[in-house]
Amino acid sequence: MTSLAQQFQAHADYRPETLPVDTGRQLIIDAVSPIVGTEHIPLRDALGRVLAENVICPIDVPPHDNSAMDGYGLRGADLAADGPTTLDIVGTALAGQPCAASVGPGQAVRIMTGARLPAGVDTVVMQEVARVEGGRVTLAPGQRAGHNIRRAGEDLHAGQVALAAGRQIRPAELGLVASLGISEVAVRRRLRVAFFSTGDEVVTIGSAARDGQIYDSNRYTLFGMLTRLGVDVIDIGVVRDDPDALETTLREAASVADVVITSGGVSVGDADFTRDMMARLGEVLFWKIAMKPGRPMAFGRIGRHGDSAWLFGLPGNPVAVMVSFYQFVQPALLRLAGVDPLPAMPVLRVPCATPLRKAAGRTEFLRGVLSSDGGAWQVRTTGAQGSGILSSMADANCFIVLGPGQTNIATGEPVDVQLFDGLV
Ligand code: AMP
Ligand code: MG
Repeated sequence: MTSLAQQFQAHADYRPETLPVDTGRQLIIDAVSPIVGTEHIPLRDALGRVLAENVICPIDVPPHDNSAMDGYGLRGADLAADGPTTLDIVGTALAGQPCAASVGPGQAVRIMTGARLPAGVDTVVMQEVARVEGGRVTLAPGQRAGHNIRRAGEDLHAGQVALAAGRQIRPAELGLVASLGISEVAVRRRLRVAFFSTGDEVVTIGSAARDGQIYDSNRYTLFGMLTRLGVDVIDIGVVRDDPDALETTLREAASVADVVITSGGVSVGDADFTRDMMARLGEVLFWKIAMKPGRPMAFGRIGRHGDSAWLFGLPGNPVAVMVSFYQFVQPALLRLAGVDPLPAMPVLRVPCATPLRKAAGRTEFLRGVLSSDGGAWQVRTTGAQGSGILSSMADANCFIVLGPGQTNIATGEPVDVQLFDGLV
């Protein structure tokens, strides 16, 4: 088997000391493949899960030709070429009720939206253009044959793939599967992701921070981002800057999870044993990514055989953790979870409301506020952009992404923006 390092070196842009963001993301996505394991679960429980098998239509949807309007059902051939059309009303077709009427030449039925078309009907004319008098209906001129009909199978037809394996179930997919009369679906098992923080200065909320200590925020942002992705989260807590504690915890985490995420201890200033320990437990690569914030990152596999897991060693700074997670970890987790194809990260181009300073050669992720000024969208930063300033994430609704080729931005210049949220 080729090692990760060999695999990565084959990539033309593989420069571990100044790795471009896009290259790093692609290498990681290509290195991982979907986890194995399927479960059959009730439809509603499948929200957010990933289909393990194609969903095949057992029936046509809609199951019968039906009316798209409240109005009158008739034979298109009866419509006058010019001038009004008058027809005898021979019955009523209601949605969900059988209608015995059969429509012959010169005849019409009153018909409701969703009602099966009675025999002979190939056209529906909406009631807004109809006038009823003494058992007859007169339709305004200009009506078109064949209109306002929904054909059996026009949404989905029996035997076709309604949803392909790899599709993540959103509200629309829940409804689509239900429209097929299917109450249970095959989904991939949930991905198990363990995470912990490292650092002697880091304490968990609930115990008092002593002099020189700080409260752990990374386990909370990670918990939030992971939970939203729908993975099983395993919170391992805070691990001291101690080689034995780190080794035990990494081994344990790798044995219970598919993926282990750590924060802190991978930058150059840290005690080297953190990196050494990760490297000793498997094949872990230490990258300096050409980005700000979030330069150092470890990626690889730790543990042995059945007890192995993917490892993401994220930086310690809270904003760097979030940026690195969204840019590198999230796409990898989606792929591991079986999502196929991976969703594109949409990018908008909007004018920047203020000038920005930018160094060439790296990708910068500024925290932005996208807003509309009388219908014209624009973006500004949240203010101070230090990688420890978590309020810059809390105040933002997007990243302003400045690519490696970009330098200072002038007021009004268009910039790329990645939105934090869409319709949910
Ligand atoms: P490190 O990469 O371990 O040197 O950490 C970089 C910076 O992030 C230091 O200022 C740490 O105190 C801070 N940091 C590390 N872990 C956490 C955490 N879990 N929550 C908040 N800040 C952290
Ligand atoms: Mg540290």
